[in-house]
Amino acid sequence: MDMGVYDQLIRENKAHVADSGGLVSPGGLSYIGRSKEVLGEIPAAIACKRIHLDEAIAKAAQRMGADLREEWAVNEAKFDNSAGLWTLYREGATDTFKARVLVCADGAPSRLGTQLGLITRPPDSTCSRAYVEGGTHKFKADGVVFYNKEMLPGYSALFRHPNDELNYCVYIIPGNPKVTPDDLKYWHEYLQTNDPNISRALGGEAKIERMNAASLRLGGEQVSYGHHVLIVGDAAGMIDPLTGEGIHHAMEGGKLAALFLDEAIKKGNYDEGLMKIYHQRWMNKFGFDFKWSMIFCQMMYRYPILLDASAAALKRKGDKFLAKWADIMTGRVPKMYMLKPEFSLTLGYELLRLLIARFNGQKKNENKSL
Ligand SMILES: Cc1cc2nc3c(=O)[nH]c(=O)nc-3n(C[C@H](O)[C@H](O)[C@H](O)COP(=O)(O)OP(=O)(O)OC[C@H]3O[C@@H](n4cnc5c(N)ncnc54)[C@H](O)[C@@H]3O)c2cc1C
Repeated sequence: MDMGVYDQLIRENKAHVADSGGLVSPGGLSYIGRSKEVLGEIPAAIACKRIHLDEAIAKAAQRMGADLREEWAVNEAKFDNSAGLWTLYREGATDTFKARVLVCADGAPSRLGTQLGLITRPPDSTCSRAYVEGGTHKFKADGVVFYNKEMLPGYSALFRHPNDELNYCVYIIPGNPKVTPDDLKYWHEYLQTNDPNISRALGGEAKIERMNAASLRLGGEQVSYGHHVLIVGDAAGMIDPLTGEGIHHAMEGGKLAALFLDEAIKKGNYDEGLMKIYHQRWMNKFGFDFKWSMIFCQMMYRYPILLDASAAALKRKGDKFLAKWADIMTGRVPKMYMLKPEFSLTLGYELLRLLIARFNGQKKNENKSL
């Protein structure tokens, strides 16, 4: 994120910088550590309400010379092939815009991308959000991810905002036939009362607002370009399938699109063949990593013990390991890093210990019942 926007949000007390955080595994193992000292200036996460973030980014773009138009929902886009120009229309008004290139950054549903026939499937997932009033809960950390065995590979999270407010989220991640996007409300309510770790963190007096939800488009679309068109952010499916997170990819995708358009303008060429280069660039930068995320999701769903082993590894290795784990989970480094010996050997060791402990526990129980 632009450091000006970041600093402004912190200064105005609209964002909270996460320091203490961690995970609770399906088997109830947990590690909550600190990351600020290890990560330094750029934190693992900041929590900020979308309204503040969106406004700060839009205003920063305006300061840089962007012509900001609010309340201008595009209803239709028509391309004039002979002029090589788009005309954009909005409902109930006669004013229009002309553009050489149309950038669809209209979020996971991407009505415009769908209208143009470039996006051909509906969003594949969904996420809930509910703010918890400050002073009414028992959560002490800044951010914790809770994996409940029943809803893997999805998860829920609590994140601290300014003024002790919390954000309680539930992410449905595709891969478990028993947990579909239609079940979001059920899981949101079920976990906050029935998951022992989440309900303990919230406490009996927590004032939680009504659930809000929106769709997610995960794993990258096959096509995010067309003749005089680019598709960016959620509209192009730039959400990590392992975490359901897409803000940093939308930002990176936006930056790549802007730099690419600069080149295209210089060349004066907006043909589909050239626009494809933008797609290859974001795929090379972070899109190819999504297939690893999908593989890890399936592994987590089939073998939840891997998450228990991860929590045990974090416990054993401490904050430095937590910071590296956070780097992988937040997409700062590729998911492939998970296969590096420092991770794979540590996880393998903890996995073995857990398997032996569970085997011994089972044996003891069998002997008891004889
Ligand atoms: C509940 C929830 C929690 C999430 N939590 C996280 C998180 O903690 N971390 C993270 O990284 N990601 C998170 N995500 C995902 C994240 O919100 C998205 O990846 C990110 O917002 C994508 O940005 P975007 O600009 O591509 O799309 P959006 O943020 O959806 O923005 C699209 C914008 O386009 C506008 N628009 C749509 N159609 C039109 C039109 N026709 N004309 C004009 N404007 C239009 C919309 O009003 C909207 O403002 C979460 C998602 C949900 C639903």
